[in-house]
Amino acid sequence: MLYTYGPLANGGDYRYLLSKHMRSIRILLVAVLLSLPMTYHAQTPSTLAAAWEKDHISRHFPSDIRHSDVKKYIEEIAAMGIRTEQVGRSFGGREIYQMEWGSGPLKVFMWSQMHGDETTATPALIDMFAYLQKHREIDWVREIGEKMTIRAVPMLNPDGAELFQRRNLQGIDINRDAQNLATPEARLLKRLRDEWSPAIGFNLHNQNDLTLAGRGTKQATISFLVVFGDAQKTRTPGHLRNEKVVASMITALREFIPGNIGRYADEWTPSAFGDNFGAWGTPAILIETGGLFGKDEKFLVKLNFVAFLTALHTIAAGRENNYDPELYRTLPENAFGNVAHLVFRGGTIVNRAATTTIAQGDIPIIYERRRASFVPTGRIAAISFPSPIRGFIEYDARDYFVVHRFGITRLGEIGEFNFYKKSRSIQWDSDDFDRKFPPDAVFAGGKWIKGEGLVPKLTK
Ligand SMILES: [Zn+2]
Repeated sequence: MLYTYGPLANGGDYRYLLSKHMRSIRILLVAVLLSLPMTYHAQTPSTLAAAWEKDHISRHFPSDIRHSDVKKYIEEIAAMGIRTEQVGRSFGGREIYQMEWGSGPLKVFMWSQMHGDETTATPALIDMFAYLQKHREIDWVREIGEKMTIRAVPMLNPDGAELFQRRNLQGIDINRDAQNLATPEARLLKRLRDEWSPAIGFNLHNQNDLTLAGRGTKQATISFLVVFGDAQKTRTPGHLRNEKVVASMITALREFIPGNIGRYADEWTPSAFGDNFGAWGTPAILIETGGLFGKDEKFLVKLNFVAFLTALHTIAAGRENNYDPELYRTLPENAFGNVAHLVFRGGTIVNRAATTTIAQGDIPIIYERRRASFVPTGRIAAISFPSPIRGFIEYDARDYFVVHRFGITRLGEIGEFNFYKKSRSIQWDSDDFDRKFPPDAVFAGGKWIKGEGLVPKLTK
């Protein structure tokens, strides 16, 4: 434990003790407040999470944020007194903005959404700047502002964001354009770095939500990479500092997602920005946000917010050396295994359209990345029996005939099914089939739209 939270951090214990030993505790409380003024506003992971809940200004699910929303957020940020500037335009002519906060000598540069459909960090940055400005009188916030200047570009790839695609409007992956500089977005990013020479960079992305932390079944909700600045993986002082900064973020995030933190593969990618930032003199930390089954996108924004402010405070307070880089080095590596979002187990698959073939099978479904407000599209990832693929959620379909809603059950087809109890006598080639044999349960658009609860969940 590296921070001392003190008795005030736990309100429950405090109230209990207060009722028991009112006077002595009150005296002790005053003594604690007088002797440890910093403790009162101590930055802890849980206070940061609560601060995000209370003070975040982003309103949308990250994946629903359009460029026009970022413009509005930037206006709100500017109205709060934060320095904002339009620093460039995308290939499609959309404005790209930079925010700046703090007045200290240590320069920190952060950018998000260079891949248009990787959205979590954009509202997290907006919320972080709003928080820093609103609470600039809190001890640790003031310390950040005195020690460092933070610049951030939210949504570097607004055209890709608008299309909800990885690449820019030219169809180029900006994160493979650090040397060619064929895109205006890559040229802008390089210029912002070269003109300012920040001491540390934060490269903010999303990874596939089926990415696992190690060989088990735990999703890698957050993965880190302390990026080397060369192919030889030279350990520079900046690299070591960044490992310790990441260790501080791991320590904080473990309180929310123990076991769900991974290490991103560290192959040198000559055309990627993170690697080149290091080579150009700005050692970078890559943060990849994945998924966590049962938690929505806003939970992930909160984790980003907690991680960013933990890292900035660690650096500003000069506390890197309180953290052991081994914590980063020993993280489980990102892995890709036999997992799907959903598996229907053991149902009897009936393909009415294809001469009524019948076979027992497990059907894993994988959902594509999409905007939160869009209906999720899942596709059949495999068909076998028994399937080694594990689902974050699984249904026991052994008592059911499983019939594809539109066509036949085959690889790549949309994962939408009608379920019929096997106890029913069903004439599969009947004329007027749909009227005579209505399904008992229907799964479509990522949820049960009829007969929810009939097909039981498998508990693991
Ligand atoms: Zn990315």
